[in-house]
Amino acid sequence: MIDPFGRHITYLRVSVTDRCDFRCVYCMPEHMTFLPKADLLTLEELERVCAAFIRKGVDRIRLTGGEPLVRRNAMSLIENLGKRIGGGLKELTLTTNGSQLARFAWQLKDAGVERVNVSLDTRDPNRFRAITRWGDLNKVLAGIDAARGAGLKVKINTVALRGINDEEISDMMEWAHGEGMDLTLIETMPMGDIDADRVEQYMPLSLVRADLARKYTLTDSDYRTGGPARYVHVAETGGRLGFITPLTHNFCESCNRVRLTCTGMLYMCLGQNDDADLRKPLRASGGDELLDDAIDEAIARKPKGHDFIIDRRHDRPAVPRNMSLTGG
Ligand code: SAM
Ligand code: SF4
Repeated sequence: MIDPFGRHITYLRVSVTDRCDFRCVYCMPEHMTFLPKADLLTLEELERVCAAFIRKGVDRIRLTGGEPLVRRNAMSLIENLGKRIGGGLKELTLTTNGSQLARFAWQLKDAGVERVNVSLDTRDPNRFRAITRWGDLNKVLAGIDAARGAGLKVKINTVALRGINDEEISDMMEWAHGEGMDLTLIETMPMGDIDADRVEQYMPLSLVRADLARKYTLTDSDYRTGGPARYVHVAETGGRLGFITPLTHNFCESCNRVRLTCTGMLYMCLGQNDDADLRKPLRASGGDELLDDAIDEAIARKPKGHDFIIDRRHDRPAVPRNMSLTGG
């Protein structure tokens, strides 16, 4: 699949559910309204859409959410997709808050998952509670241990939040690198209504990088994982540090992905509102022809880039849906 700007679309992100056992302050309000369960694609339907994308050249799938591991029987989807590794699919990965990893680590590994991204913004229990509202740090740390114990490669994702965890970023990096894990920093993106003030939370990674560069020797690296992160090598720790900077540095020119929600809507860009309904063709009688056509039509509409801006005056989200719907 090649989009109008010549980009090969080889990466599908799938939001398995919009529900979550945490309520991170930058992601959703505490009293989040979730989608009615009846609107969700079944796990079999999600698999059928994934299979259609694999037929069309997608070789990497990342499951996300919401929290992918809180959907009932999520493992059956993961196991079925895992069977496609080698048959068109090269890699199946997961982005998770880590709360369920202690339970599922071995099953993930057995299903063919090799790498997981665990989102962790702080290692301070009180701060963790303040950021996630409902999360338990010990459970997440135990989940990370279990994942590594099962042989999964773990990367830590940390959202940089002004005045909340910005002081802790070098500690997080030293810890992750000391444990042999990569760390990727993410800028908050203006998506969906939350209870907090986004402008206050927003911490440009250009500043974080400049700050780290005073203490560490950072060398640009060509290393890529297929995602939007750009990496540096940190001489003092010997580890890799990634930056996902949608706002300070536009990463769209090399975008290779599209995103499927748990209701079967396809978003061709995380930062735009245009979507394509795949549920209707998926549920139409007959084979997969209508679904295939709908995918082709959607790819032909993939926009050049996102329109994220931090609206300082109104603090309005650039995109009305929360990250938990489209999947980060
Ligand atoms: N629940 C899982 C987790 O937290 O890893 C998967 C879904 S979560 C939406 C995926 C990633 O998006 C997480 O790393 C989270 O920190 C990030 N995220 C959520 N809302 C965001 C926002 N408004 N801006 C930037 N990153 C965000
Ligand atoms: Fe849940 Fe992930 Fe959003 Fe936090 S960032 S509320 S863990 S979906």
